[in-house]
Amino acid sequence: MSTRVGIASILPASLVAGTALLSVATLPSGAEVNEHPSSKDSPFIQEWRQSDAAPVALSGLDKFDDDFRHFKYVSVIDDYKDLSKQEKAMPSVCYNIAFSRLRKHDFVNAEAPLRSAIARGFKGYDGYPTPAQLLQRIEKLKRLCPPLKSDIISGAVRIKVFSREMPWYASVNAELPKFLERAKESFGDSAPPISFYFFDTFADYRAFFLTLFEVEGERKNQEGTGNYNVVVFTAKNEKGEDTGTDLNFKHGCILHEYCHALCNTIYGDNYLDHIPGWLDEGLADELARPYFTKTHFPYYKKYLAESSVKERPPSLEEMSKTMHYGSKDRYPFAHEMTDHMLEERGVTLFRPLLTKARELNGDFAAAIKDVSGKTVDSIYEQTVSGFWK
Ligand SMILES: [Zn+2]
Repeated sequence: MSTRVGIASILPASLVAGTALLSVATLPSGAEVNEHPSSKDSPFIQEWRQSDAAPVALSGLDKFDDDFRHFKYVSVIDDYKDLSKQEKAMPSVCYNIAFSRLRKHDFVNAEAPLRSAIARGFKGYDGYPTPAQLLQRIEKLKRLCPPLKSDIISGAVRIKVFSREMPWYASVNAELPKFLERAKESFGDSAPPISFYFFDTFADYRAFFLTLFEVEGERKNQEGTGNYNVVVFTAKNEKGEDTGTDLNFKHGCILHEYCHALCNTIYGDNYLDHIPGWLDEGLADELARPYFTKTHFPYYKKYLAESSVKERPPSLEEMSKTMHYGSKDRYPFAHEMTDHMLEERGVTLFRPLLTKARELNGDFAAAIKDVSGKTVDSIYEQTVSGFWK
């Protein structure tokens, strides 16, 4: 459950994440990103965080409206399915569903209801973009979006790839079937479909990124990200060089971001506000294990061993709430914590953990105890004592 109050305390956790990994000097340069644009949602976010309102039994249009007011856009999309034909034709409903789909990066399906809202003369709400502004954004995204390149399906698990033909793509494409199998192994046969958007120039990627997420990532030169429904990556960095010339590194980074996308999509509303930073990154690194075993993990151990003689360990609070800011590299510590958590069950713990945390309204500590049998404190202590003697 989110107990943080005030927009200032929310923004960083939501906006950042994921870039510290690159500060390990010994790693090859490449892509890790992971904006978290859930945040700068709206004028009311502050009140909502403060109240963390008690659940009220609502249904139908009341629930749809209530979820919209509380920025629960995944729930809004779900509620919409139960509305009647008449309700779906209401101008405000048309706008709200369009806005929600766009917030959750489904710009394709946002367009039709938005056009209905406009045709019915809907003007919008104070503090929200007008319907015409939203439509402009959708049109821009359609213009910037590369063509559908492949649609890879394994059982119910699916990756749609939007990309132009380019050499960078060929090597990634060859790995994607393995990504699907890794997703099934970790999240089960019903892992949600994710759309991948690959760009051949940094400028095109950047334009799409900013239009889709409406927010800067932590670093202007970040090279990819995973979020609700989507993975976005560029083949060229800011300097025009190929991102990830080391193939294991490149494929691992994309798989890492795919994990963020899967976790976010499975968990739904408030994922980035609820999940502790170390866990979000630790799970993503663990999914990428088949590649990171060669590129990242050996450096992680070395890094922690070196840190332990120079400085105090990061606190649990820092690992949970401010993982991504500050100058220290905390990915190695997060990876180590996650390793201890997964000792018994490995990646099969991913799905039950997210489901349990959702059930407990974001109490990840209780969920971890429930599915792994370990407390977060013991996982943290085990990590510290492994290196800080
Ligand atoms: Zn990450």
